[in-house]
Amino acid sequence: MPLSEFELIERYFRGCGSRREDVIIGVGDDAAVLRCPADAQLAAAVDTLVEGVHFPRDSPAQSIGHRALAVNLSDLAAMGARPSWALLALTLAEAEERWLAEFAAGLGALARAHGVALVGGDTTRGPLSVTITVLGHVPPGRALRRGGGAPGDAVFVSGTPGDAAAGLALEQGRLPACEQAERLRRRFLFPTPRLALGERLRELASACIDVSDGLLSDASKLARASGCGVELMAAALPLSAPLLGAVGTSRARELALLGGDDYELCFTVRPNALERLTSEVPAAEWGYTRIGTLQEQPGARVLGEHGPLEISSSGYDHFAGA
Ligand SMILES: [Mg+2]
Repeated sequence: MPLSEFELIERYFRGCGSRREDVIIGVGDDAAVLRCPADAQLAAAVDTLVEGVHFPRDSPAQSIGHRALAVNLSDLAAMGARPSWALLALTLAEAEERWLAEFAAGLGALARAHGVALVGGDTTRGPLSVTITVLGHVPPGRALRRGGGAPGDAVFVSGTPGDAAAGLALEQGRLPACEQAERLRRRFLFPTPRLALGERLRELASACIDVSDGLLSDASKLARASGCGVELMAAALPLSAPLLGAVGTSRARELALLGGDDYELCFTVRPNALERLTSEVPAAEWGYTRIGTLQEQPGARVLGEHGPLEISSSGYDHFAGA
């Protein structure tokens, strides 16, 4: 007999993630009741992943559970917020128990790693799609914004952008398998939201955004919101050894700029705060790299060794004819 919605939620989602004392009523009632700290503001984000759009068909269920939460946690990281609670709306073609157990394991492991409790859920029958809402806290008035940058601010990115795009291309068979394949695939399947870095940047960064659509696109959004432009240096892009090994320098740069699905943080720092950044959040320990500067002139430019690079959105399709 197929699982009822009640049984499905009881079996796989009650107690998923961390136990928190501020959950007065969690999964299983009509609504969750949560205790909010008096000295914090609530940060909220929601994101939907649709099969065949945001992840390939037949992706591992554990990865789908992980990514659905990770993309939301990444949005809170970009605000400098600390996550507390999550709500899940799951649309499924059929309630297959093994799939559900793996999905809940992927979601639950990441939730526990960041102290997040799953406090509500809803399931519907239909084509596979996962919507998660995350709620978190930030000290009053201290949330990081996209719009706080100014001309002259240094631009940084965490991690090694481009890996996830190569991982997706490997998943989809658009890039031939190679020695580095497994590490790159994992960067797509199990992204790491940079929550600790986001909190550390609250007092240091002038603006911040998470990299979901591609570094160049998201850096441009930050610059536009800040009322300025951005200039990135191609030679400064932090490219991982697996990415370089898999596609070479020129494609690696293109994937780092245009690829997407990185869930790293792109942030800016005023010139007079650079020393504090270096001493309080050392790059060697926190894994970020300076890649450019905000400019008065609007728009986004990438400087190569011999001048500005022509960047077109067709970079997205680079593997199509490969
Ligand atoms: Mg975002």
